[in-house]
Amino acid sequence: MDLSLTEEQLMIQETARRFADAELAPHAAELDLTKDYSRLAANCRKLAELGFMGLNIQGEYGGSEAGTVAFSLAITEVARRCASTAVTMSVTNMVAEVIQAMGTEAQKQQYLPELCSGAFTAGSFCLTESSAGSDPAAMRSRADAVEGGWRLSGTKQWITSAELAGVFVVWAVTDPEAPKGKASAVF
Ligand SMILES: Cc1cc2nc3c(=O)[nH]c(=O)nc-3n(C[C@H](O)[C@H](O)[C@H](O)COP(=O)(O)OP(=O)(O)OC[C@H]3O[C@@H](n4cnc5c(N)ncnc54)[C@H](O)[C@@H]3O)c2cc1C
Repeated sequence: MDLSLTEEQLMIQETARRFADAELAPHAAELDLTKDYSRLAANCRKLAELGFMGLNIQGEYGGSEAGTVAFSLAITEVARRCASTAVTMSVTNMVAEVIQAMGTEAQKQQYLPELCSGAFTAGSFCLTESSAGSDPAAMRSRADAVEGGWRLSGTKQWITSAELAGVFVVWAVTDPEAPKGKASAVF
């Protein structure tokens, strides 16, 4: 089996490395110390310009369709220089991929181009609760069906980019009577 990287994967790796060296490394320590969200937001916009906020999203929704190997190469280079920016990039890509996999066509059209283009600075993925981290089946947040949508109740914590996100994927129990509860994602 040939495991060598394709030209496109090498180009994405090189682009990410150059960007991280030039744009992230000089400000990474300051970003962590000051919690400067404007700096983080600027990093996110540049990542979107490079096509790194929707690396596994289909082109018709504004994504790069680069594949999981390319995603891994890009996130490795970004994380090497700025872990804070990398976790934001990682979660935003994850949010886009959840919406692509589980969203309705209308939701995909509404949210994916905004995430991929940087119109939304970031996306947030809301799973963790005070009693539900490694074990999401212990989740207590509820999503109750109401006319025209869902009513969410509960509390989440450790939500990356909550201050910056344009869309939140929120996990909540929709059927508390089901064995171990039934959880669904609400966008
Ligand atoms: C930088 C960062 C960003 C994050 N961003 C997000 C986010 O965007 N959205 C979100 O929803 N959450 C986020 N989280 C939360 C993260 O997903 C949780 O911290 C994680 O799921 C662990 O949950 P916990 O902290 O409650 O630890 P716990 O689940 O309480 O685990 C504590 C310790 O016990 C161990 N442990 C747990 N269960 C078992 C077991 N059955 N057997 C043996 N050992 C066990 C664990 O390995 C761990 O060492 C983030 C966390 C960090 C650090």
